[in-house]
Amino acid sequence: ASITYEFAGFTSALPNEDDGMSTLGFLEKPELDRVLASTSFLIDDATGALIEADIFFNSAFPWSVAENGESGRFDVQSIALHEIGHMSGLGHSALGETELRESGGRRVIASEAVMFPIAFAAGSIAGRTPRADDIAGISDLYPDGDFRQLGSISGRVTKDGRPLFGAHVVAFDPASGALVGNFTLNAQGQFSIDGLSAGPHILRVEPLDDADIDSFFESTRTVDLEYRVTYANRLIVVSRRGDSGPVDIEVARK
Ligand SMILES: [Zn+2]
Repeated sequence: ASITYEFAGFTSALPNEDDGMSTLGFLEKPELDRVLASTSFLIDDATGALIEADIFFNSAFPWSVAENGESGRFDVQSIALHEIGHMSGLGHSALGETELRESGGRRVIASEAVMFPIAFAAGSIAGRTPRADDIAGISDLYPDGDFRQLGSISGRVTKDGRPLFGAHVVAFDPASGALVGNFTLNAQGQFSIDGLSAGPHILRVEPLDDADIDSFFESTRTVDLEYRVTYANRLIVVSRRGDSGPVDIEVARK
């Protein structure tokens, strides 16, 4: 991607203050007992311009900046990378699996995106490395020359012949192991997955995890989850700088 960040210096300014500065910093928010960090935006209502974006890290949690991570402490770099993804315009990726913990909340079993909404457990530094899905997302927003050499898969998802909104569509490249996902994002049930390397891909459509719709879509949107994981009935061949042409997938009923 063509976006870079550099350290500008230390400040005594606090995050989440409307001061025209984009600030990363710690705040003590024990009442937010499921929030490690979050990114907020201040937008000019009249022009739509972004005035500032702040990232706050919740100092109610234990943190670490140790090179190899630290048992029982959350890795600042990993969580900062996720939040800087938001600051740069990325939403959440659904490429991950979680399970319920007995103590409440969810534990990540596996994740293929830094932008997965739930962090790895304390002690992990796995979130320091952007994955294929993160790289495709940020490159789509800030493309460079390399990104423009890549290809895409687009198409439409239906259920009972009708367009399906909010379906998670994932392209898997068996040659590299890369997974890149997107959603059907309009009333026509259309999707587009960009930033794919040339070659055959396996395409899978799956419903979002019903425990966590709010991390992906506004609560005003209705997302149908009543269908089974469905694969495209052929390998989809991606060409350099080209699109696959429309791939239509009718999902299987539950
Ligand atoms: Zn997030």
